[in-house]
Amino acid sequence: METDVIILGAGAAGMMCALQAGQRGRRVVVLDHARKLAEKIRISGGGRCNFTHLHAGPDNFISDNPHFCRSALARYTPQDFVGLMHKHGLGYHEKAPGQLFCDEGSGAIIEMLKAECDQAGVQFVMPCEIVSVRHQDGFQVMTAQGSFEAPALVVATGGLSIPKIGASPLGYKIAEQFGLPMVKPKPGLVPLSVAPEPWAPYAELAGIALNATVRCGKREFRGDLLFTHRGLSGPAILQISSYWSHGERLHIDMLPGIDVLALLQAQSGSQKQLANWLTQWWPKHLAEIWCAQQGGSRPLNQYNDKQRSEIAAGLHDWQILPSGTLGYAKAEVTCGGVDTRALSSKTMSCNAFPGLYFIGEVLDVTGQLGGYNFQWAWASGYAAGMSV
Ligand SMILES: Cc1cc2nc3c(=O)[nH]c(=O)nc-3n(C[C@H](O)[C@H](O)[C@H](O)COP(=O)(O)OP(=O)(O)OC[C@H]3O[C@@H](n4cnc5c(N)ncnc54)[C@H](O)[C@@H]3O)c2cc1C
Repeated sequence: METDVIILGAGAAGMMCALQAGQRGRRVVVLDHARKLAEKIRISGGGRCNFTHLHAGPDNFISDNPHFCRSALARYTPQDFVGLMHKHGLGYHEKAPGQLFCDEGSGAIIEMLKAECDQAGVQFVMPCEIVSVRHQDGFQVMTAQGSFEAPALVVATGGLSIPKIGASPLGYKIAEQFGLPMVKPKPGLVPLSVAPEPWAPYAELAGIALNATVRCGKREFRGDLLFTHRGLSGPAILQISSYWSHGERLHIDMLPGIDVLALLQAQSGSQKQLANWLTQWWPKHLAEIWCAQQGGSRPLNQYNDKQRSEIAAGLHDWQILPSGTLGYAKAEVTCGGVDTRALSSKTMSCNAFPGLYFIGEVLDVTGQLGGYNFQWAWASGYAAGMSV
């Protein structure tokens, strides 16, 4: 079958690209091996899809080529997507500052994108197994459903996260086939594990959450931290996980914004147990385990100045050495991917093969937690859709 544009992947980026290209009069075919459209949109944001972040900017993205995302983000903004939602009568709410969720649920966003694609005459062929890609004058995609030919090929097959709903390395393989450089992929926005022995005392705290500041190198995030049987999770940990590398320690402020030393000094005449004192901020179980691990709990009047300083330092800088992540099965995104230095930041097309485009998560552009990853999918999809 001959067409103008073949898009591999009917996810967030692929659908945005398809509707833009279709509305420009291009004949578009989207191929996907999944049965259902955009499964990641469906499961995102707890079923409500955190579809954008109002303040998305280049600083919210991780990439070896940090300025690459700038142009696309400026040309398709969060307000543009909100405008699309308005057009379709969809409502949204702001949960945390800037984070927008769909009132009608994530399925409504998929239906909206599909409606826009249908109106633009986009054709979906799925489930469709991709067998190979060839490049001669144009691009030829061999599939279990026959062969498709077009002068433009857009790779929107996403990263490696959550293989059970369709993630695959197809995009990376195509990049390799065309000799494009890669930034080594790794799981991002992912819970971290700690070796069983050092973690054993804390494992029984699984399910307990507290507000903390987590730092790794120069990056720091404040948010909820969740104890799990195998290590740590929660938004603050997911955020820092994308910046963490093996062998690096996390520095956790367990009582951010509280001057623990001054408060301990003010309590130097008190007979209250340290563990009891900590329960003004923490669940009892956490306070007990914490104190047991730091040499036990005594009445506050039994600590000298040096010991009070040590307690305060320990609470403001609890150091954890993660042993790893919970991997792609639990990761919300994949960091790394196709090296953007091989592409035009305006159009997402390859410098060496102008008809070949990469968009969305398959690229080495990874957003922080909070709607940034979808904003990148929309913006990069739009950039390619306006060019193909
Ligand atoms: C649990 C979870 C929750 C998330 N929540 C949010 C959120 O609230 N906000 C946010 O901004 N981001 C969120 N994300 C991240 C976001 O979903 C992704 O960054 C985004 O979907 C990437 O879009 P994409 O189009 O590049 O890839 P995808 O949406 O992953 O689409 C890729 C498509 O390619 C298809 N494909 C893959 N391999 C092949 C192959 N070999 N042959 C044919 N087709 C193939 C897949 O089936 C899929 O349809 C979440 C991710 C997860 C896993």
